[in-house]
Order: sequence, then structure tokens, then C-alpha cells
Amino acid sequence: MLASGGASAIIAPRISSRMNISLFGGTFDPVHKGHLAVARAAAERFQLSKVYFIPASMPPHRQDERIAPFHDRYAMLALATAGEKKFLPSLAEAPAEQDHLSFTIDTVHRFKQAAGTSHHFFFIIGIDAFLQVASWHRSEDLLREIDFIVVSRPRFSMADVADALPKSLRPPPAVVKAFRESPAKGTLALRGTVIHILDDVKSPVSATAVRRAAAAGKSLARFVEPLVAEYIKKMELYKTGSGKQGVQARWRL
Ligand code: ATP
Repeated sequence: MLASGGASAIIAPRISSRMNISLFGGTFDPVHKGHLAVARAAAERFQLSKVYFIPASMPPHRQDERIAPFHDRYAMLALATAGEKKFLPSLAEAPAEQDHLSFTIDTVHRFKQAAGTSHHFFFIIGIDAFLQVASWHRSEDLLREIDFIVVSRPRFSMADVADALPKSLRPPPAVVKAFRESPAKGTLALRGTVIHILDDVKSPVSATAVRRAAAAGKSLARFVEPLVAEYIKKMELYKTGSGKQGVQARWRL
């Protein structure tokens, strides 16, 4: 932009007030109604201004399997979130030139640097995935860096949540024991980390069920947004056999 004297001026993005921003990482193969229900519930409860859906480029637990290409998973996220102003598809973990995995801690740092430190950051995760958090790269730093929103299921207790933490962040054994009878609910505020439990999302959809239904040629209407269902169909994603990764990948078009 040109200032009145002709000199160029860079206008910094205006950050009017502190925002609550959440990152939501996953494979999203594909994004489904369960993911959207989680994001909506979290946005309402934590007054989130933005939820970034971050598809992983190469999830460590899925390296042996064939998953849909990153660009298809990203495209489906863009379609699924198009109608929700607060929901954004993110390229933060898009496959890089160099052959390395993006670690969540690096993604969080990049978001914080880009958005500024005045905002409050959350990370949304399902409880099944949270139970593995101690094995993540620099898990302790990650848990200290960002509040977690853990989407719980009825059979899980607060002790399950506490037990999943790296040892250094775990409450004393007596406290964990006392948690055994308490269903996962509310907020676990510990020295160094805050874990919020979201226990009211009841959407029993899974990406596995969507892929199975697609492979069997069944309707996807109850699992995914209409545009996502259309995309899966026309791009021939999740078909059984050698063409499992879709028409684009198969024909290299
Ligand atoms: P898959 O069936 O392939 O394991 P998924 O449906 O769990 O996939 P992911 O992309 O792995 O999808 O999910 C991203 C995150 O969302 C994970 O932390 C997962 O636990 C959570 N999640 C997925 N589906 C639901 C759901 N229906 N309700 C609550 N959380 C969910």
C-alpha cells in the first residue's frame, strides 16, 4: 500500500483482541460429521474464534497402510468447512520437500509465531489418541505449551486422563487413585498443563466406517457432508483393490 507521501508502508494485521484459537489435528481420511460435531462443541464451550483442521501428512501410526493422498484429504476438509466461518482447513503439516514428519510441537510453535502470543491456544484431540500422548515427540513441552481439549467417551475416567500424561506432569498416585471413580469431565488443571474434557459430543461416526461404506458402494449421507460424499464418489476414493487411493493418484492426473 502507498502512503500519502509515496513511500510504501506495510500494514500489520490488526489484532483487535485476544482470541481463543484451537488446532484440531488428525488424519481426516476423510473428515466426517463426528469431527465437525467435536469442533462445534469445542467452539461453543471455549468461545473459539477459529478452529484449524490440520491434516497430518504421514501419521506415524498409519505408515504401513495406504491412506488417501494429502491433497484429497485437504480438499475434503475445505469442502466440509466451507459453510463455517470459524473452521479453517490448514496446510501446516502439508508434505514438505524434505522427507520428514511434522511434529505437533513444531506446528504449535509455528501457529503461535504467526498469530502472536496474545492469543490463547488449544489443541483438540479424541481420548483414544490422547492416551498415546506421552509417546509423542517432546510431549511434555507440548502439554506445557498449549491447553488440551480432550473429547471423552463414557467409559473413561479422570484417572485414565491423568495416567496418559508423561510422568513429570502426572499428579501424585494418591490423587490418580481418587480419580478412578470419577468419569472424565471438567478440567484437570495441573502444574504445567491444563486438560479440558469435552464429554457431551455423541457422534459415533469414524473415518473407518466411512471408508468401509465407500468401499461397499453404500450411501455416505449419514457420515459426511454432502459435498464430501460427492467428492469421494467422483474421485473414487476408498475403493477396494489396487485403485484404493483414488482416480487422481491412480492415473497421475
Ligand atoms: P479412523 O477411523 O481412521 O481411526 P477417525 O475417525 O478417528 O479415524 P481421525 O482423523 O483419526 O479420524 O480423528 C482426528 C481426531 O478426532 C482424533 O483425535 C479422534 O480421536 C477424534 N475423533 C474422530 N472421530 C470422533 C468422534 N466421532 N467423536 C469424537 N472424537 C472423534
